[in-house]
Amino acid sequence: MPNLNQITLRYVKVGPYSSWFSICQDGYSLNNAPVPGIDNSEVLARINEFQPLISADGNYQNEILKNVFNIGLKKAEAKPLWITPNSIRRHRFTTEDKGRKRAAATSMGSIDYTLHRQFAGLVNKGNAHKLKFANKYGLLKCQAVHNLVFRNPNTGKQVQMGESLLWWQEEITDLASCLKLWDMVVSEDKELKDIVLWHRDGIVLRLEEGDVQLVRRSNMNLLTRWNKGDTKGPALYYLSLVSNKRLANALTPGISASDEPNEVCVYPDSLLSAIWFMFVLEVSGNIRLVKCDVCGDYFSSQDPRAQFCSTRCRMRNYRKSAARKSKRRR
Ligand SMILES: [Zn+2]
Repeated sequence: MPNLNQITLRYVKVGPYSSWFSICQDGYSLNNAPVPGIDNSEVLARINEFQPLISADGNYQNEILKNVFNIGLKKAEAKPLWITPNSIRRHRFTTEDKGRKRAAATSMGSIDYTLHRQFAGLVNKGNAHKLKFANKYGLLKCQAVHNLVFRNPNTGKQVQMGESLLWWQEEITDLASCLKLWDMVVSEDKELKDIVLWHRDGIVLRLEEGDVQLVRRSNMNLLTRWNKGDTKGPALYYLSLVSNKRLANALTPGISASDEPNEVCVYPDSLLSAIWFMFVLEVSGNIRLVKCDVCGDYFSSQDPRAQFCSTRCRMRNYRKSAARKSKRRR
């Protein structure tokens, strides 16, 4: 008997995220200022004028500050880096001509399902890898302030604001920690019992970045969901809490204009939301990702026997095992 309160969509497509259309045509580079060549206080003044960073009650509007500005400026001594666009020229994607190919490439079927794995994989990688990711997919959260145009007084060059690398690192770490927990759930890792800790008054998650009180006296009724000592259930519950928070108000359904008009398409509001949506699709079993035996990259496949991401990796593996065999023969 179907649940009448729910509609099951068989084919939900993922459309391009909004900032997809703001990817800098000339790429990004690492800079020690949010806007290359412009003094930080001037940047702050211009932004404040455009979109007040301080609300009427005197508090900072944290979202903007956190995402694009504050983290880097606070740690001024540490000389924070920024991922900044090299020009104000943007890729233009139209529904016709060759632009169509790229825009259409983000709809389900050919979309890169591994966005979240690629992003989390940057956790222990150098800045060059993060820059490469930005060059491919753009900034994490293009906002209105990113449209502000500054003119460098010396060169006359028009420039725009980038994003703090420290903030990128924070976001990467958050996702990587969730994926690590998820991988432990999937592989039924024994060590999960050292992370999901049951105690007299509830459940604590002992994560690398600190303890999370998942169940406490105030929400003890949750405990009836799981058998005492269960680790998988509480871990999944925690992952759902985190991703639901990330995706609240972040996805807009619509009808895809370029494909079959009867298909529902979900449009993420930013690259960051698209990344978290991919994570949710993996956790919910809507996509299945496999780690390549040769290069370690993730790829999506429905075939349970799939081992390699590409023909290249398959061939490399073949040559390796052939070499091993001939060695043994000798
Ligand atoms: Zn591979």
